[in-house]
Order: sequence, then C-alpha cells, then structure tokens
Amino acid sequence: MSALRLLRLRPWLIREVIPPRRIGTYQLHRDDAVTYIGRSDTDLRRRLIQHAEANRGDFFTFDVHHTREQAFVIECAHFHNTKGFTSNLIHPAAPSGEARSCPFCRGVANARLRLPGTRPAARTHR
Ligand SMILES: [Zn+2]
Repeated sequence: MSALRLLRLRPWLIREVIPPRRIGTYQLHRDDAVTYIGRSDTDLRRRLIQHAEANRGDFFTFDVHHTREQAFVIECAHFHNTKGFTSNLIHPAAPSGEARSCPFCRGVANARLRLPGTRPAARTHR
C-alpha cells in the first residue's frame, strides 16, 4: 500500500487512505519540493495527522511497510536522496531495540552526518 502521487495533507484524507496502526514512511511537500521525510514505527496515520494539524506541509506521499526494519531502510534512502533539501538535519535513528545501521552511510559520509548520539568527527590541523 503506497501513494507516490501527491495527496493533500489533510486529516480527513489521511484517515481515508491509511488504516490505523501501520508502520510507514512518508514525505511532506510544499511549493513543489520535498520539505521533510519521516517514518512511524507504530502509527503512520496518527503521525501524518499530527503533521497536518501543525501545518507542516501541503501534500504528502507515503509507503506502508511490513517491518520496522524495512521502514528504517526506506527512510534512510529518502534521507540520503533529499539531504540538503529538507528540514531533516538528523540522520534517521534505527528502530528502538534494533542495532540495524544505515545501508547508505559509509566512510567519510558517515563522519559528516550527525548521527543521533554522536558528534561530527573532530578535525586536527597539524
Ligand atoms: Zn545513512
């Protein structure tokens, strides 16, 4: 279940297209651009309604996933694809209780990202 065309970010429409208590990822859009990416490990519908009520976007797309791990990997892909264009500054965190790491981070890129609970690698000039 997914909608890759833009849907209006309105509570009634979110309730219409997404059942309660689904794991999912989403992107918020405004002015023809992705402005925020996210996921919910417990209730995608509730999370999107919160965004709608806070007026955090005009449109949204979403995907429903079977597992939290699957949702995490897709959120990571969205994060890396849109990095620098959205208001997301912090790399997605792994689902609670899982040690899964991002499949798209590696080497230098990893050091530059602000992973939760870490600081950017300090540079030494000698
Ligand atoms: Zn990553």
